[in-house]
Amino acid sequence: MTSEHVKCLIIGSGPAGYTAAIYASRANMNPVMYQGPQPGGQLTITNDVENFPGYPDGVNGPQMMQDLENQARRFGSDIRYGMVTAVEFSDHPGRDRPHRAIVDDSHEITADSIIISTGASAKWLGLPSEMRLNGRGVSACAVCDGFFFRGQDVAIVGAGDTAAEEASYLANLCRKVYMLVRRDEMRASKFMQQRVKSAHNIEILYNTETAEVLGDDEVSGLRIRNTITGEESVLGVTGFFVAIGHKPNTDIFRDYLDMDENGYILTEKGSTRTNIPGVFACGDAQDNVYRQAITAAGTGCMAALDAERYLVTVEMQEQQLVH
Ligand code: NDP
Repeated sequence: MTSEHVKCLIIGSGPAGYTAAIYASRANMNPVMYQGPQPGGQLTITNDVENFPGYPDGVNGPQMMQDLENQARRFGSDIRYGMVTAVEFSDHPGRDRPHRAIVDDSHEITADSIIISTGASAKWLGLPSEMRLNGRGVSACAVCDGFFFRGQDVAIVGAGDTAAEEASYLANLCRKVYMLVRRDEMRASKFMQQRVKSAHNIEILYNTETAEVLGDDEVSGLRIRNTITGEESVLGVTGFFVAIGHKPNTDIFRDYLDMDENGYILTEKGSTRTNIPGVFACGDAQDNVYRQAITAAGTGCMAALDAERYLVTVEMQEQQLVH
């Protein structure tokens, strides 16, 4: 196994990771980033990003991630393709006990500071038709893509707070929103349920599952099934939103970092500090509320600033010990 030591290791790409890289490289922290299995993260499966400030005409998701990567490289970030497969965080990090990460089971990195920006992955139903039409009428983000379905009929699957919130969001834009609930009740909070039920253009279809997303190049409808009778029917919609939850990509940190019950990393209020000194978390890996590119970028900036301040403090403490 090869080995190297770095000042700042960034795990995961996306708006949070690239922003952290831009700030860290400009602060002379010589960051090394491993991009993970999907370089650029969730935005690389979004076509048009129209809500990121600074792009008056919108921007293509993959292009935006490429721009961020180029910007980080311009300041010297060492951005590498590869996946961190294991970590070992030190309780009392210092020169003699740095944090460790293993890349692709073959390369060891020790680091003075680590920024986690591994993001989250939307959960999907797992239908082949859903994958085929992803980005062409199938979306896992109403706030990102709802605008493209203004005045149209859409469906959203899910019955939790996210689905309820996104259904309400879509109801303000679309002519009709069908909410597909697989059981005879919703999981969402009473308040959110009330909001959905009182919207004039949301129709809740209970005991309903999605059998197939229809359409050749774009979504043209859904084949739905009643889970009790097995009866199938076709729903004429042009947009299909999946809101059955997200899973933060944080499994490899589970033994070291405090997390909530869903695996989101807990950070100190108003900062990106985790329970381990020198380890910082930003973006969707620690945010189950906002989950936007702009908020991820904001926390990426915070993580780099927090890491820089941490490194300065540690260096000063070590110098005091020497003298
Ligand atoms: P949840 O896990 O709470 O809900 C997921 C929903 O998707 C459930 O209703 C579930 O159905 C349904 N589902 C799962 N798999 C399938 C499937 N294969 N087919 C059909 N339906 C399926 O996820 P959320 O993202 O909604 O929420 C995550 C957390 O974030 C929660 O704690 C929530 O309260 C919180 N949150 C809070 C918000 C707020 O306070 N404003 C906003 C958004 C989220 P079933 O019920 O049958 O299991």
